[in-house]
Amino acid sequence: MRLVFVAGWMRSGTTLLTELVGSSPGALAVGELATMWTALEREDHCSCGQPLRSCPVWGVVATEVADRHDIGPGCSTSYLDFDAVVRGVLRLRRLPGLRRLRRTDPDSFPADVRRLSEVMRTVLRTVTEVSGCSVIVDSSKRPTALVVFALIPGVELTPVHLVRDPRAVAFSESRRWQWEGVKAHLSPPGRGVLLSALHWVLTTVACHLVGSRFPGYRLLRFERLTALPEETMTAVSNGLGLIPPPFVAADAVQLAPSHVVNGNPSRFGSRLRKIKADERWRTQLPVTERLAVGVLTAPVRLALKLMAR
Ligand SMILES: [Zn+2]
Repeated sequence: MRLVFVAGWMRSGTTLLTELVGSSPGALAVGELATMWTALEREDHCSCGQPLRSCPVWGVVATEVADRHDIGPGCSTSYLDFDAVVRGVLRLRRLPGLRRLRRTDPDSFPADVRRLSEVMRTVLRTVTEVSGCSVIVDSSKRPTALVVFALIPGVELTPVHLVRDPRAVAFSESRRWQWEGVKAHLSPPGRGVLLSALHWVLTTVACHLVGSRFPGYRLLRFERLTALPEETMTAVSNGLGLIPPPFVAADAVQLAPSHVVNGNPSRFGSRLRKIKADERWRTQLPVTERLAVGVLTAPVRLALKLMAR
């Protein structure tokens, strides 16, 4: 099973990139597998338009997970109970311990890591079999999820690390957006600009330290993706051994059908997607906030600039 793992911080375009990679022939975008359990509990809608339990992919996954692992409605473990297990495993403070684990020695895994690995193996195997797609594209983002998913037996994981300017991220996170036609609980959580900057620094450094150990790792700037969408996606796809997604213009792509379980509400938008930069932060982020985020993130931004040369 091949898993393309989109890593990075929130509001960085990870859902868009997941849909783009998942639009290559033989690939399928599935969204944030790490948070799929709350989506199942709430009976959210899949990006295919169906409620998750009626979706031809997630409905089968839910049945398999219930039969094999006793997780779900009427089982010994509810979706919310299992979500708590997942959250416990994926806390950033567990990253050093998780990195010491070896896939060849599953007996050394802590019990919660082992259980998560076994359940996610069932999830990925079922998605692969039902969809007929050999490449699954996940946007769980967190470095801990990257490490744990790479421990799943039979999974060949390739990380793509997407990084967006932290001032644009902080602007997006600090404003309460209302997505048209999207229920309020599906909107991503917000936070203040300083907290956003701190999370951006920690996640960017951790994703790079973890991801760069994997063959095929790619560090991708969101600004490059929006400036040169077709050229960038051709390079990304070639690096992954995939055929690029079908662009109908240099900045517009016809997204393939997907089964994105969770993620940014943009997954419900038109499948004909125009890709453009969002530069509102340059004029709408107050100068004090822009400076504060700029100073906090300066060393990491400088390092990224040097690496991009
Ligand atoms: Zn679906």
